[in-house]
Amino acid sequence: VVDLDAIHANIDVVRRHVDGAHVIAVVKANAYGHGAVVVGRSAIDHGASMLAVACVDEALELRSGGISAPILVLGPADPAEYVAAFGAGVMLSLATLEQVAGAERVAERCGLNNATVHLKVETGMNRYGARPEEALDVARLIAGSEHLHLGGVFTHFADADGEDLTFTDQQVQALVRTVEMLVRAGIDPGTVHTSNTAGTFRLGRGVSQAVRLGIGLYGLSPDPSIPLLPGMRPALSLRTRVAQVRQLQRGDTVSYGRTWRADGDENVALLPIGYADGLRRAVSNQGWVGIGGQQAPIRGRVCMDQVVVGRPEVDVRAGTAVTVIGDPSTGAMTMEDVARLTGTINYEIATGIAARVPRWYLVGERPVAHAKGGTVRWLS
Ligand SMILES: *Cc1c(COP(=O)(O)O)cnc(C)c1O
Repeated sequence: VVDLDAIHANIDVVRRHVDGAHVIAVVKANAYGHGAVVVGRSAIDHGASMLAVACVDEALELRSGGISAPILVLGPADPAEYVAAFGAGVMLSLATLEQVAGAERVAERCGLNNATVHLKVETGMNRYGARPEEALDVARLIAGSEHLHLGGVFTHFADADGEDLTFTDQQVQALVRTVEMLVRAGIDPGTVHTSNTAGTFRLGRGVSQAVRLGIGLYGLSPDPSIPLLPGMRPALSLRTRVAQVRQLQRGDTVSYGRTWRADGDENVALLPIGYADGLRRAVSNQGWVGIGGQQAPIRGRVCMDQVVVGRPEVDVRAGTAVTVIGDPSTGAMTMEDVARLTGTINYEIATGIAARVPRWYLVGERPVAHAKGGTVRWLS
């Protein structure tokens, strides 16, 4: 269940925080597991100026879902995808002379006069991008092309969630110097953007005309040490219903490997959710779910499609609502609880919620959309 009011509130808070800079809503990886088409459209309708994704296929999915807003592909695209991207009016991020030459040929062949691209500058992440000393030549080739248009210049922070922001400041300065070089050469850099969520929270608007809001859009913090801005809240709760209840006797064991054994009579509840839905197997015998506001501990191993939980002291029967991940007041684990128990970060838990899990979207607690296996149904 995705509370779109929370997504809207998160955008509002960040927009105020960045003092008029644009918000680029990062909806890669199926909107961090929340569902890209509904979240993308909803973000655009509530103050985001642009969407960003990791790859061309993700951008095309948004277009198929009826979204006409600007979309930027952040990562490197295969040249074989340029035609589809330009045909769908999707902006590519380019970093090398070869890429620009290839994009120019495709744009010309498609009869485009100003296919907009962004220049990705590499300032310390050592991942995708042109080094500052290469950036001017790449920008010149874009700006000089009849068929391409330079819509923006950006970089990505390696350590904006770290304690010490010295390296982040160096990255900012490297991008600023690069942009100044472009301007001196008479090239309009377009929209300059540096910050992910952590950078946005900590630097505010900074030197940027836009921020790329990923994890924060969903009301999740980029690092346990970094609090959400006041007014932000998580949008997602992972819910299921009890499928069956059973009474165990002392000595009975639960699930594969018989790793949990009842030390007395215990009522347990079977839930039709497992690791193939995104409930990590590593929470076996450690995690818990929320039933009637109480924590019900996971008994035995999480299976692919099912899990058994100990029954809390509330009336539980087939059909009883259960929150597996969500607001702790429901008794559920938070995304951060799951991450901590499984030795990873909330990003990996959120993006791991499987495509087969149907998504319901709420506005004012009323369902407005439903998504299942890539098919979106709007209810209002
Ligand atoms: C994923 C990504 C983001 C968003 O990062 P968050 O930490 O989720 O805000 C921003 N920029 C780039 C280039 C990314 O790949």
